[in-house]
Amino acid sequence: MNLNNSKYQFKKDSVGNIQEWDFSHNIEKLNVKHLRQIITDSFGELTDQIIADSLQMNGAFFVVDSNGKILNKYVFSECLYSERLVLKLSIDKIWSQTEVGMNAISDCISTLKPSLFSSKKHSNEMMMNYITCAVPISLSSKKEQTVILGAVLKKNEQLNELFLMKTFAMSLRTTMLKNIESYIHYNLYTDYLKVARENEQRKQLYQINKNLQSKKDAGLIISEVIQTIKDIYPKLDFQLFLSMDNKTNISFKTISFDIDEDVYCKRAFMQGKVQINQMEPNNMIIAVPLKGHQAVYGVFRIQTNLEPFGDKDIHFVSMIVDSAGIAFENAKLLEQSNSSVDELRLINDITRKLNKSLNLSEIFDYISTELINIFQADFGCILEFNKENNEIVVKSSNITNLPQEVFSINYGFSGIVNQTKEGLIVQDYEMNPTVSSKVMEITSSRSLIASPILVNDEVSGVVMFTNRLPNFFTYDNFRLLQVLSTHIGLAMSNATLHDEMNRMVITDNLTGLYARHYLDEQVKSSIQTTHQYGSLILIDIDFFKRVNDTYGHQLGDKILKKVSQIIQSCIRDSDIAARWGGEEIAVYIPEAQVKHALKIAERIRKRVYQETSPRVSVSCGVSDWSLSDNVVGVETLFYKADMALYEAKKMGRNQIQINT
Ligand code: GH3
Ligand code: MG
Ligand code: MG
Repeated sequence: MNLNNSKYQFKKDSVGNIQEWDFSHNIEKLNVKHLRQIITDSFGELTDQIIADSLQMNGAFFVVDSNGKILNKYVFSECLYSERLVLKLSIDKIWSQTEVGMNAISDCISTLKPSLFSSKKHSNEMMMNYITCAVPISLSSKKEQTVILGAVLKKNEQLNELFLMKTFAMSLRTTMLKNIESYIHYNLYTDYLKVARENEQRKQLYQINKNLQSKKDAGLIISEVIQTIKDIYPKLDFQLFLSMDNKTNISFKTISFDIDEDVYCKRAFMQGKVQINQMEPNNMIIAVPLKGHQAVYGVFRIQTNLEPFGDKDIHFVSMIVDSAGIAFENAKLLEQSNSSVDELRLINDITRKLNKSLNLSEIFDYISTELINIFQADFGCILEFNKENNEIVVKSSNITNLPQEVFSINYGFSGIVNQTKEGLIVQDYEMNPTVSSKVMEITSSRSLIASPILVNDEVSGVVMFTNRLPNFFTYDNFRLLQVLSTHIGLAMSNATLHDEMNRMVITDNLTGLYARHYLDEQVKSSIQTTHQYGSLILIDIDFFKRVNDTYGHQLGDKILKKVSQIIQSCIRDSDIAARWGGEEIAVYIPEAQVKHALKIAERIRKRVYQETSPRVSVSCGVSDWSLSDNVVGVETLFYKADMALYEAKKMGRNQIQINT
């Protein structure tokens, strides 16, 4: 305890060591009410110990303050006072000269000197039979801290009353000083206890603060502050209200901050200041805001009906909560910057993986499986618009029975995304189904996030994720999906372009049939690795030069296209028709023997003859291969077909020849 700051004074030597207790100074500072009490008690003590036992007198002793107000009295039991005089001696009465006439006590009050009045000296009839005697007792230099010990006595010839009174006065003064000292000691001790408690609290606060500031997890900070307050005030009833966006996943039950719930909490939250509602003397509601430098994050609502709780406690708890607020804010900021870094890393990672693949279905599968994990969704799907047919097609999904399903372009949530070109977030489909959605129905989902896939600013598809729980997706999830869907759009358009380029490389421009090198490769792979046998048809338009010469090259092209279409429509998707050169077309039919190829060739020949205008005919040469052949090779196969074609030309055209 720092004595220099104390309200008590000590006399010190030149180096500041305490030499003695500065009595008069300390007494001067005493509270009047307390001093009066000490005087009253000391007088009682003195009369109990000395006067009552050792003196048999007729009369009374009393003590008055500098204004004549009676503080305490002792009346001998044998006293023969008149009733009027007894009344004058009542406690708190003013001993006044106007009422009792000239007497030693009034005299002493004005002169502050010992005084004795014999009975004859008294003017008032009531006092005629008594002597009065008074001695001042000074406690400090202040006049108001002087008291007068007075007596009204029947004269006893054997006694020197003034001497007796002086002796009593000295004893009373000693008793008073002893009691004042005890009182000051007591005060000093309680002050010491108070300071010790404050020191203890300060130390505690320092520890709590240190502990809170060292934590990096907002949830942990909240648990810690709650536990700390619980440990210090076990009977306190308190709740924490956190605003929605600051919910932490801690086990302690947090209540979302409902702004209408409690007017004091609301005010504490809005103003960021402690609010106190004193309902009864021992029942307060205290709302302490959990705030940092930037914002208020929630409110502690404390009800004190079971725990004595004073201003100091309110201050103490507020300081703990303030410290927690700062720590909470720091943790939140750290969390935010970490999650931004994580988010960037994730976006980078996903983009890299998306760009790695140029295969659309691989991209779709990657998106639906990977993003389901990232968003912790139960279900996910990617849909692609087909604007020509006004349809939206499911491209990839983990929902059974949904893949390849086709919906109308305006159906469900994808319809909304298509119309608005914006993402959407559904908190609870069950409570508020804005549109009907098959995805939500068959998966019993309640939450959804969806985002458009934009390619060249056009909605080309929708990516959506759902969860069976309501309010599952956060605004951060929604935002992340928006960012990712831009990259999905880019990856998709890259893959589509790549597909298109590949298609162009293996396609003949004029006829739309495959290019020769593609057929070459496919036949090679069929012979070498995949199949048991296969057939080749070489088709050549008869007298085509003449067609060109007669109708012009442009019409020649048209005829060539028409013949190509007929050929295409006569074969299956697994058969390969390619422009072999000029007006020659080759068709490879894997897993087909010559009999089958012949049928196809015949169908082609017939239809060309029937369906072309101006009419042209084709000649065909057919060859085949099988594993049982001695020598199998692409060149042989083509050579044989070419020979057969030559034969067909030679035999008069518009016919089919086989060379096996
Ligand atoms: P045949 O095969 O019956 O013996 O007589 P042909 O007149 O068809 O034979 P030839 O090989 O002498 O001539 C082929 C003609 O096909 C030459 C060319 O004018 C025409 N031709 C080749 N490629 C194209 C093409 O891409 N477009 C057009 N319009 N004509 C082409
Ligand atoms: Mg020809
Ligand atoms: Mg030719």
